[in-house]
Amino acid sequence: MQAKFPTESDDAAILPSPLQRLHHPLLHRYGVELWCKRDDLIHPAISGNKWRKLKYHLLHAKAQGKQHLLSFGGAYSNHIHALAAAGCQAGLRTTGIIRGESHAVSNSTLQDARRWGMDLVFVDRQSYRQRQDPEWLAQFAASDTLIVPEGGSSPLAIPGVAELVGEVPFSPDLWVLPCASGGTLAGLIAGKRQPEQILAIAVLKGGGFIADEVCRLHPAATSIPGWRIALDHHDGGYAKFSPALWLWVQDFSAQTGLPLEPIYSGKAMWGLFRELAAGRIAPGSKIIFIHTGGMQGLAGLKEQGRL
Ligand SMILES: *Cc1c(COP(=O)(O)O)cnc(C)c1O
Repeated sequence: MQAKFPTESDDAAILPSPLQRLHHPLLHRYGVELWCKRDDLIHPAISGNKWRKLKYHLLHAKAQGKQHLLSFGGAYSNHIHALAAAGCQAGLRTTGIIRGESHAVSNSTLQDARRWGMDLVFVDRQSYRQRQDPEWLAQFAASDTLIVPEGGSSPLAIPGVAELVGEVPFSPDLWVLPCASGGTLAGLIAGKRQPEQILAIAVLKGGGFIADEVCRLHPAATSIPGWRIALDHHDGGYAKFSPALWLWVQDFSAQTGLPLEPIYSGKAMWGLFRELAAGRIAPGSKIIFIHTGGMQGLAGLKEQGRL
């Protein structure tokens, strides 16, 4: 890839990302209207919310004269995949600290990352827990290194995500999105217009920490009303999903033409319809669902024989 930062001048980026109206019989039944903000289409390699979250990390790295990006993730991480692509495009060296033993992980996510020049360092789970310890990190980082937190969720992620609100030509009653580390939710809270509500679907079990994390990333969120995190649609936990969920997602994709995967976007869409069925969303609502991307993860699920 040529040396360029992923900003609006990035030729490969499609911005604003398309807004697609979705049609589904259940939407009539619940009396709501649904659009999808197709952030999955922003960039062929730097997917969805990771593009938004990385944008200001890369601009910051450039402004500070950094030459190297260091970050962390699991062997199928969308963030690691996006960071490798973004670094390659921007002419920055990248290192990914990967949780797990290397023999287990020659999957398509990491093959792409390697192809884009990322140095991969495999560490066991115990070492991985030290990833916030500056002394431990010193072995991988120098003065020209920008350390990007797991998932790309730092205060630098906020403005990039907030910008998506201004791309939408009307004000929805409700935004819906998947959440894990909370960085994308924090950015959306920062960007939303006052009366708009946000429903974040936690894709992991035990998501009670996420609200605190949102407020750490964007302290003003404590005094901004209108957002909530639904904790009971994790379907077993992070990266887990039942056959029923995956069937529902495939059926929904077939009916609407919207591609989804089961870890984030599909699970969140499923969660939205469970909220609708439970009567927790007001009839008449205009809803925008944010497709946060992550479609590269489907290849890994297929490799593992999980789909
Ligand atoms: C990383 C990721 C998320 C989670 O975003 P957070 O900011 O960590 O909450 C959601 N969707 C996709 C596709 C992702 O890759």
